[in-house]
Amino acid sequence: MYEALHNAHRLIAHLEQVRDPDALRRALEEANLITPDFFHNLVLDHNSLRFASMSATMRKTDVCEVQVKDNDGMPYQLLMRHDSNWRGQSFKFECVGCFGDDPTCGVCGGSGWGVL
Ligand SMILES: [Zn+2]
Repeated sequence: MYEALHNAHRLIAHLEQVRDPDALRRALEEANLITPDFFHNLVLDHNSLRFASMSATMRKTDVCEVQVKDNDGMPYQLLMRHDSNWRGQSFKFECVGCFGDDPTCGVCGGSGWGVL
């Protein structure tokens, strides 16, 4: 779990510093911090985006869900997966259709995160 959080911190630092989506993906690949199918739905040219807090929950032995809040208190979900290393698999903002409260939500499919 410590290593998953450590790499999550490194990934978030890249998200804060690199605004261009293509440059960001390249930097994260070079740092071995994302899986090949990494998905994010962030608006990456949001210049004031800063992340303030983080907590983590193990979902399986090889999947760690990291809950992140930005400096406006908006929640995000970062999924870290372990194969050879802990790497980010997806980074999503909370669903704006249901805010995680509707298992039948058509926007996020009931996951509470991102869009389908
Ligand atoms: Zn939803």
